[in-house]
Amino acid sequence: MDKLTEYRIKQAAKVVDVLTDHGIQLFRKGRELVGLCPFHDDVHTGNFSVNETKNICKCFSCGAGGDAIETLMKLDGISYGEALKVLADMYGIPTGDDMKPVAPKGKFTPRPQQDPRTMIYWQKDVLREVIGHLEENNLAKWMRSLKWNEAESARLEKAMFNYCLGTLTEGAQYGWTVFPYVDEFYHVRTMKYMAYKPDGHRDKSCNPKWWHTGKFDEKKNRVEICLFGLHLSSMFKHAKVCIVESEKTAILCSALYPQSEWIWLATGGKSKLKVNMFKQFLEAKRHVILFPDRDGFDEWESVANACKSRYLKVSRSILDNWQESDGEKADIADILFRMVAEGHDVLPKETEGQKACRLLGIDPMPEVDDLCEKLSLKVE
Ligand SMILES: [Zn+2]
Repeated sequence: MDKLTEYRIKQAAKVVDVLTDHGIQLFRKGRELVGLCPFHDDVHTGNFSVNETKNICKCFSCGAGGDAIETLMKLDGISYGEALKVLADMYGIPTGDDMKPVAPKGKFTPRPQQDPRTMIYWQKDVLREVIGHLEENNLAKWMRSLKWNEAESARLEKAMFNYCLGTLTEGAQYGWTVFPYVDEFYHVRTMKYMAYKPDGHRDKSCNPKWWHTGKFDEKKNRVEICLFGLHLSSMFKHAKVCIVESEKTAILCSALYPQSEWIWLATGGKSKLKVNMFKQFLEAKRHVILFPDRDGFDEWESVANACKSRYLKVSRSILDNWQESDGEKADIADILFRMVAEGHDVLPKETEGQKACRLLGIDPMPEVDDLCEKLSLKVE
């Protein structure tokens, strides 16, 4: 069982549920619940209490108590791992391993699943164990080994930190990269694990794993995912928004350009781009530029065409700069790097209208762009 599943179980498991499943009656007394202690021969209520906020129980007579897991371990005389398994079943949390189910001694009531969005929020302590450990992370090591100047190198470190890049440090997926998908409210919506080879490319023999905490759309029967790096849109409120396919590209591009001006968000897959992922930026009149991979251009262009916003552009720079030597399946990051090394502009050039607005000290207005274009104005 991986650490994140363990956290998820810990967050879902209620000590009250464990106790009531074992037939322990609890009565409300002020903020707490009280009852007879199940761990010693208790005769009157008052020693044993449950604090629902802290999600722990405690007996002031015999000293026993603890969180839901500890309580279940003591009540059933089972191990930590076995208790996790029982609780996972109880709260409908998939563990992804074939551990033999343990027959619980209590009544065992399956609980309705919590709204997954409430399960894990952006808390450093929840994710502490996976964030960082970049010296054990092939992708991070490869990114650090690229040719950067001093400013870029500093931006890369900052970017890996800002994106909360993580590493699995134990188990069968040791060394895998963890990409937390954090939304604009700093809630972790998805964790994606991927294996990378020392050359910075994905290890295609290992399928990526997704671990969702995100909103479940019952109509579509799937989890609603957000863009990777969405929280950066709250951190850098005035930055233009660039959307790419892979998380790796997003991080690399953030090393090339300051995040205060350009933030790079990733869909995590060619077919994952949806208008409602970036609609809010367009409504807020923030510029959005889509940077599809070569094989995704048509698909992304049709998504862009469907929403007809003057704040939205699809960049052809990847498509136009592809060379045969890059290979059919060229990684966008590889092409970008070659382009930057050759001195190409990856980002769209400032238009005449944008230049005019900048010189006037006002926010860019598409109307000015249109005017400049119609009148073929050159702003000097
Ligand atoms: Zn007791």
